[in-house]
Amino acid sequence: MRTDLVVIGAGPAGLAAALAASARGVRVALVDAASAPGGQFYRQPAAELAAARPEALHHRWRTWERLRDGLAASAVRVLTEHHVWCVERTPERFTVHSLLGPDQEEPAEVHAHAVLLATGGYEQMLPFPGWTLPGVVTAGGAQAMLKGALVVPGRRAVVAGTGPLLLPVATGLAAAGVEVAALVESAAPGRLARHAPALAAKLPEGAGHAARLLRHRVPVLTRHTVVRAHGDDRLTGVTVAALDTEGRVRPGTERHLPCDTLAAGHGMLPHTDLAQGLGCRLDGLTVAVDPEQRTDVPGVWAAGEATGIGGAALALAEGHIAGCSAAARLRGAVPGPAPAALRARTKLRRSAAALDSAYQPPAHWTEQLTDDTVICRCEEVTAGSVREALDLGAGDERTVKLLSRAGMGWCQGRMCGTAIAALAGCAPTPAKRPFARPVPLGVLARQHSQEGPS
Ligand SMILES: Cc1cc2nc3c(=O)[nH]c(=O)nc-3n(C[C@H](O)[C@H](O)[C@H](O)COP(=O)(O)OP(=O)(O)OC[C@H]3O[C@@H](n4cnc5c(N)ncnc54)[C@H](O)[C@@H]3O)c2cc1C
Repeated sequence: MRTDLVVIGAGPAGLAAALAASARGVRVALVDAASAPGGQFYRQPAAELAAARPEALHHRWRTWERLRDGLAASAVRVLTEHHVWCVERTPERFTVHSLLGPDQEEPAEVHAHAVLLATGGYEQMLPFPGWTLPGVVTAGGAQAMLKGALVVPGRRAVVAGTGPLLLPVATGLAAAGVEVAALVESAAPGRLARHAPALAAKLPEGAGHAARLLRHRVPVLTRHTVVRAHGDDRLTGVTVAALDTEGRVRPGTERHLPCDTLAAGHGMLPHTDLAQGLGCRLDGLTVAVDPEQRTDVPGVWAAGEATGIGGAALALAEGHIAGCSAAARLRGAVPGPAPAALRARTKLRRSAAALDSAYQPPAHWTEQLTDDTVICRCEEVTAGSVREALDLGAGDERTVKLLSRAGMGWCQGRMCGTAIAALAGCAPTPAKRPFARPVPLGVLARQHSQEGPS
């Protein structure tokens, strides 16, 4: 089947983009690694669970129904369980290379004239002593268990770190019957208040979360942090402490909270691997786009959290603008006006920037890292080994990796990159990974034999 546009990622941005382009006569394939569209925000319980009220764990369910029904009524070709590992560009077309199904061994290809990257972001969790104990999960991981599998990670949880994601995670767990012992947020409320005008668009959502926290009697500790997770073979509790205005732990404020689950998160990072593979320019850690959501590589658009962390509503607006632009440009035309989406994007980008500056990890968080704290989980490299590499002269993530193997494992530094950069005292840089996913050698060998030796 011929395809004009491949949209990679079926979260809010990809769904909005695919629907906008398809409604304008473009033949669209929508590709996602997950078993169903929805992305992180509209993650659904698995069909086998036959959830009676799937909407119970979601807000803005009507928007999801509109997207879901729109997709069913559209001509968009939905390709789920396609893990895209690379997008290849030739003068004539793009080839999207995927691995199929949960095993990710069977290759598949889709060809198109244009590509729209809506690959979202992933959670950042900064290390602290005890963070590798069973019972410590990422905040989004706890949310995904709840939304996707209808299971809770434990009976008594602490939700900790920084960022707006902690709010729905704490209220979601509490609503599902978990006793939430505390929501521990390292940011000070004053930082949010300072950005009040820019956050006006987020006020109703924030008020809703605050009301739910009150209803479930969740204690909120702001300007606090988890200094250690305790337990022998699994988590039994955490020590939390207050932070001073410099972001250092205030001695004498430590207290112990018993719990069997710690859901921790420290913000999100954009997925940029596929964009980098295509040669798209990055702006810091995000894919750079113009007002139409075009990257600087002709025929490649990007939308949603790949272009900056900003939430589902912003992803929807950007996806719509990108889909309209791709439809017009593929016809050789200029996109018509989309005033509502443009207004929403402007307002929500302002809120996203305000949230980003309000929710920053404590400035001196690396001081809590004992030498035996594991930093790179894949290669089991400790803070002590990273510090040794720094003493040997390493001054950046790459040299630390060469000297200590930190960042060399399965996740290729996605989890530990920020921590290594912080220990090295340099800004995190986007890693150059040739493939977005691990690829079996057999798949590469088969591709080479099809193409023939060069
Ligand atoms: C774990 C997690 C939990 C979250 N929970 C909440 C919440 O409870 N409340 C809230 O307000 N916000 C939440 N967020 C943030 C919210 O989900 C995002 O703001 C929103 O979903 C962004 O939309 P998007 O379309 O840009 O990306 P996403 O919704 O992340 O969609 C990206 C899609 O791209 C697919 N993808 C990525 N790479 C590939 C690849 N190589 N091959 C194939 N497919 C690929 C993914 O499978 C995914 O479906 C959460 C985010 C995360 C990461």
